[in-house]
Amino acid sequence: MSAPIFSSQPVACDDPGVYRTLLESTKAIPWRIDWATMRFTYIGPQIEELLGWSPSSWIAVTDWAERIHEEDRQKTVDFCVAQSQQGVDHEADYRALTRDGEEVWIRDVVHVVRRADGSVDSLVGFMFDITARKQAEDKILQLQRELEVLSYRDSLTGVANRRMFDTLYPVEWAKARAGGEPLSLLVIDIDYFKQYNDHYGHVQGDECLRRVAAVLDAGAARTRDLCARFGGEEFVLLLPATDEEAARNIAERCRKLLAQKELPHARSGVGRLVTVSIGVGTIVPGAGDDPEVFLDRIDRRLYQAKSAGRDRVCDVEA
Ligand code: GH3
Ligand code: MG
Ligand code: MG
Repeated sequence: MSAPIFSSQPVACDDPGVYRTLLESTKAIPWRIDWATMRFTYIGPQIEELLGWSPSSWIAVTDWAERIHEEDRQKTVDFCVAQSQQGVDHEADYRALTRDGEEVWIRDVVHVVRRADGSVDSLVGFMFDITARKQAEDKILQLQRELEVLSYRDSLTGVANRRMFDTLYPVEWAKARAGGEPLSLLVIDIDYFKQYNDHYGHVQGDECLRRVAAVLDAGAARTRDLCARFGGEEFVLLLPATDEEAARNIAERCRKLLAQKELPHARSGVGRLVTVSIGVGTIVPGAGDDPEVFLDRIDRRLYQAKSAGRDRVCDVEA
């Protein structure tokens, strides 16, 4: 039978050498500062491997401050001094400078040691190298930003998605209302797209959606214009500071640009090419107006364009 790993008897250790060995063999770097003189009375030898500065070069608290990255120095020193003066244990993350001028992220965990009368005797602490963790955190933040950008994009066509439209529409509405400016909206739907898919297949259908999206995106050319895929084979153009006439022109331009692409559609009910129907309208939003009601109105104009024969723009109610 093998001996038990842990003894059930309590262990007492009177040998300070044991503690020193433990302290100096951990990855965390221990240190002690005398409060009265603000000088180091101890720093673990591991510091030299991490930062390149020998233990004997850590004399006063100013040596510590000087070895903090310039951008982190003032706030770290101010924070640690204030916490220590109040006698509060604390932690600080900062970039330390190595002797070669490299940066290492440190988490300094500080304990305030008091005398029996409550006055501060010293500060003891551990420095941890958290560079790898900080780099991982930076990477996560960067990925989150990338994901946010992607989550507003329609993955098939590359134009904005419905979520983007839903986010921007109320913003542009409020801006138009505040500035008394016209806001225009186009709702666009590909004609006989079910037949297109049935005839050419879904892969070709997807390619057609990409091409139509690119045409519409080019049609809404100003920087604040938004071209979004609303769902299926339906798109929307949101055009701030655009009056009725300009909006109608843009709608016609989109139709013409698409015609120039000459995308074949053998099963279309209106001709030999891929076409779209468009509902268009303009509003200077007032107190009694509602963005959803306006959107519904433009949507009805789209269906009027459909029932009037497709491949056309409709800008009025029946
Ligand atoms: P209308 O002229 O009245 O608009 O007729 P339509 O056939 O275009 O309209 P309908 O709503 O009947 O059909 C829309 C079709 O769009 C059906 C669906 O298969 C297709 N569709 C929707 N989303 C996608 C997509 O992501 N990829 C492909 N390939 N097809 C899609
Ligand atoms: Mg359609
Ligand atoms: Mg549709």
